[in-house]
Amino acid sequence: MATDLLLVNGGRFLDPATGAWQPDVGLIVRDGRIEAILGPGEPRPADGAARVIDLAGLSVLPGLIDAHAHLIGRLEFAGIPAIDETAETELAAGVANALATLRAGFTTVRDVGTYRGLLDVELRRRIERGEVSGPRMQCAGAMITRPGGGGEVTGEPGVAIPPELRLGVVRDAADMRRTVTRLVEGGADVIKLIVTGAVLTRGTAVDDVELEAPLVEVAVRTATELGVFVAAHAHGARGIRVAAKSGVRSVEHGSLIDDAGITAMVAHETWLVADLYDGDWIDEIGRRDGWPAATLEKNAATTQAQRDGFGRALRAGVRMAYGTDSGVYPHGLNARQLAYLVRYGMRPIEAIRAATVDAAECLGWSDRVGRLAVGRFADFVAVYGDPTVDVTLLERPAVVGKGGDIVRDDRRPRD
Ligand SMILES: [Zn+2]
Repeated sequence: MATDLLLVNGGRFLDPATGAWQPDVGLIVRDGRIEAILGPGEPRPADGAARVIDLAGLSVLPGLIDAHAHLIGRLEFAGIPAIDETAETELAAGVANALATLRAGFTTVRDVGTYRGLLDVELRRRIERGEVSGPRMQCAGAMITRPGGGGEVTGEPGVAIPPELRLGVVRDAADMRRTVTRLVEGGADVIKLIVTGAVLTRGTAVDDVELEAPLVEVAVRTATELGVFVAAHAHGARGIRVAAKSGVRSVEHGSLIDDAGITAMVAHETWLVADLYDGDWIDEIGRRDGWPAATLEKNAATTQAQRDGFGRALRAGVRMAYGTDSGVYPHGLNARQLAYLVRYGMRPIEAIRAATVDAAECLGWSDRVGRLAVGRFADFVAVYGDPTVDVTLLERPAVVGKGGDIVRDDRRPRD
């Protein structure tokens, strides 16, 4: 992290909260955080008093946030993750994934679960110590799931699953309380529940409710006591209602949401984190690589329905945070989903808001990320052109900064 004084100068800056551009801004950055914001014509620090990053000619946005990422390990091919991998190889993959994510302009992620328990926390520690270049992370530590549920490792029959891959498996309320506590004590700062079956986990059905309300309520109560939020994976309509009514912070996927689910989410101010892009990826790669027919059928049954449900939920006023399920598709392509949010009902500025100021609120991190404002981290992504007209410009960042450190610089030479 930069400990000296830094001036991020020039360019026009977007405040996603208002949609307003401010030209010729200067950010004064100290110890990674924004100390002051200078307007056009205001005096800048004298030559030599500060390091200068010149962003003239670029549109500058707050660093993007992915509220649904999985940085650990390689791609989760068809729900058979990682049995033959070691913590070392999975962490090494995580290091590469973290760098790809950061360079794509995503300076913050909420990592919602790794099969090998708490390896995400280890990655976060390495990033915080500066040993690894990656986004700011919230970590779930594991996925809490019932035995054989959507968060379980499903391997070939007869292959024993090592206990470190089953840290999140719970059977009853006491188990739930113990597991939530253990994960938070182990460094988790969000709890991930698998409330329904999953698309990529064999032998689970997206309509099945795997964690019923009494267990979800125990998780929410315990997490609240420990000061963290709960993110609930839920595809089926009833699972979405169970999650929202039990007080989770966010519903992940929300694929088969119905009107009652939308009403419950509005009433409980539940965030929806809908991964609208990755269904296309799963379909393409799954067919190419001969994934199980049941997996491709579940994917087909949730993809378009999810996009339609997203549009209905949006119009009804459900709060939306950007999350992509990265790890299902290759890390670094996180911005591709912005165009899907626009295609299914958002204005470009709303999609940008979902991936900045709103995602920050969903994470409880409005004091540190999501806007370029005094006191927050100097995390930014700068692009050519106007991403409030064309969000796909954010798929090609020119400059990415995190805490004032430049982690990507692909500026064109100026003439
Ligand atoms: Zn996921």
